[in-house]
Amino acid sequence: MSCTCDECLNDVLALVLNRVQPRYVTDAGKIAYVKAEFIDKQQMTTLIVKLAESAKMVSDMPRCRRGEE
Ligand SMILES: [Zn+2]
Repeated sequence: MSCTCDECLNDVLALVLNRVQPRYVTDAGKIAYVKAEFIDKQQMTTLIVKLAESAKMVSDMPRCRRGEE
């Protein structure tokens, strides 16, 4: 990434969360199930790919404009 300030990191996180399929948890007992799902290797790979893509998007166009200096 060209910039790793808090603003850019938050942007990456927001992008990833928007692109990951939402998982609504209605009770505490289901949280363990959701966690287990993320441990699945395929799910993890998908998440890392989305993270890398989002990082590139923010890196190419940092909203904090530090990249323009
Ligand atoms: Zn930045």
